[in-house]
Amino acid sequence: MKKIFSKSDSRTKSSNKKFKDGNKAKSRNKSRSNISENLFLARNNEKILEMHNSFKLKIELVPKPSWGNNVRNKISKKSWDDIREKVFKIANYSCEICGQKGNSKTLHCHEVWSYDETKLIQKLTNLQSLCSNCHGVKHIGRSLSLKNIDREKVLKHFKEINQINDTIANQVIVSLLQQWNGRNKKKWKLDFSYLKIYNIKL
Ligand SMILES: [Zn+2]
Repeated sequence: MKKIFSKSDSRTKSSNKKFKDGNKAKSRNKSRSNISENLFLARNNEKILEMHNSFKLKIELVPKPSWGNNVRNKISKKSWDDIREKVFKIANYSCEICGQKGNSKTLHCHEVWSYDETKLIQKLTNLQSLCSNCHGVKHIGRSLSLKNIDREKVLKHFKEINQINDTIANQVIVSLLQQWNGRNKKKWKLDFSYLKIYNIKL
C-alpha cells in the first residue's frame, strides 16, 4: 500500500493536529459562548414575554396550523351572530380593553386561546367584545401584513394602551414572533369546551 505520509508529512500531520486541536478548543469555546448567548437570549425572551403578559392589551398570535380552525368557521352564521350579540350585550356594547363604545356592526367578537405547550392543546378560554383597533393589535401579524390596514395606527394603539415606547414594543413583537414560529411547528389539538355556556358542542 502506498505510504501516505513521509517524515515531513508526519511533522505536518502533527502540527496540523495541534492546529486542529487549537481549532477544536476555539470551537468548544465558541459553542460554549453560543450556549451562554442562547441562554441569555432565552432568559431575556422569557422576561419580555412575562412583561407582555402584564400588558392591558396583549398580542395573541394564532399558530399557522390552526388558522381557520375557529368558532366562527365551525358554526352556522346564525349561531355565531347570536353568540356575538350576547358577548357585546354583556360588555355593554363597548370594547372590553379600551372602553370604546360601539355596536354590533363596529365591534368585533374576539376568540381568546390558551396554549398548553406540553399537551399541545389550544383551548378557547373566552370570547371578548373588542373595538377594531384593539382587535387589530391582537392579530398584529395579520394587521401588519395587510395593505388595507393602517399599520401605524395599530402600532400606535398598542403603544398607547400599554403606555410603552417604540423599543419595548419592537422587543415584544420580536419575542412573540419567535414564540409563534415555535408554535407553528406543532400540531395543536383544539378544545372548544368553553362553548358549553352557549349550549354549543364542537
Ligand atoms: Zn379597544
